[in-house]
Amino acid sequence: MTTIAFIGLGNMGAGMAANLAKAGHEVLAFDLSATALARAQAAGCRIAASAGEAAAAADTVITMLPAGGHVSQVWTQSLIPNAKAGALLIDCSTIDVDSARAVSAAAVAAGFRAADAPVSGGIMAAEAGTLAFMVGCEAADFDSVEGILTPMARAVIHAGEAGAGQAAKICNNMLLGISMLGVCEAFALAEKLGLDPLRFFDIASKSSGQCWSLTSYSPWPGPVPSAPSNRGYEGGFLTSLMSKDLKLAQEAAAKAGAATPMGAQAQALYALFEAQGYGQKDFSAVLQLMRGRLADL
Ligand code: NAD
Repeated sequence: MTTIAFIGLGNMGAGMAANLAKAGHEVLAFDLSATALARAQAAGCRIAASAGEAAAAADTVITMLPAGGHVSQVWTQSLIPNAKAGALLIDCSTIDVDSARAVSAAAVAAGFRAADAPVSGGIMAAEAGTLAFMVGCEAADFDSVEGILTPMARAVIHAGEAGAGQAAKICNNMLLGISMLGVCEAFALAEKLGLDPLRFFDIASKSSGQCWSLTSYSPWPGPVPSAPSNRGYEGGFLTSLMSKDLKLAQEAAAKAGAATPMGAQAQALYALFEAQGYGQKDFSAVLQLMRGRLADL
């Protein structure tokens, strides 16, 4: 068992830190929010006075913060100056590839081991310990990273070198965002053409239109009982987070010179849906925008 500093105990970090404590690790927790700290303490973590203090006493440090600016600030101002020699620093936030590579390079230059390990799965998966981690790190460090992440995971996959975890995450979520829009459009057209949407679901599920957004997460209520469409599109994966990930994908595409016209269209549609006030709804609720039924939400 090891001592792990955990910085960022919000919606995701709270459940993740709790699972590490449950697995027998000593978890030193820090967040700017007193409420988040109290929740972490109740879940078996020890509270630190600052990110630097937590890092100074730990063998491994995990960050789970909102965006690239927060990660850069915490890594350069608190972790790198204070962490123990040779410590393993892992960022699990979803951030831009350039910031991920920059903080990793700064950490490695200062003698630390570093990994970006963003997650697939939401708050429920964080609580249940069933997140999928996509890891960017030196091949030699992957076993140590996997060992730390395992109590929070259903899968830990090595994507490649520094930044590769973030690259995999935004490519996957761009594909998800696009495929959900395709499924929503098909349902909206089926309805206009007088097809029973549930009959259409049965047919497309067994035809070449079959995909995860349809058969595991149907935006049309009914055929997939676990999907957020059956509970007023509450919970699930927030439109605001899909919007954030698609924006990161577009920024990365522009820098890399990649043509991603469908990703650009998807980003514009989710941004429009968010601007209408639906950022806190599951992203599959965009079906109601396609149907002209926003008033039903
Ligand atoms: P959140 O806003 O609920 O939590 C972030 C926490 O970081 C907050 O408690 C905040 O107080 C803390 N924080 C901010 N700056 C800090 C600092 N300088 N020092 C210490 N603590 C600080 O966000 P979340 O939903 O937990 O998401 C965290 C990350 O995970 C994001 O990058 C998000 O994109 C990603 N993610 C979220 C989900 C999800 O479903 N919520 C799913 C996958 C990935």
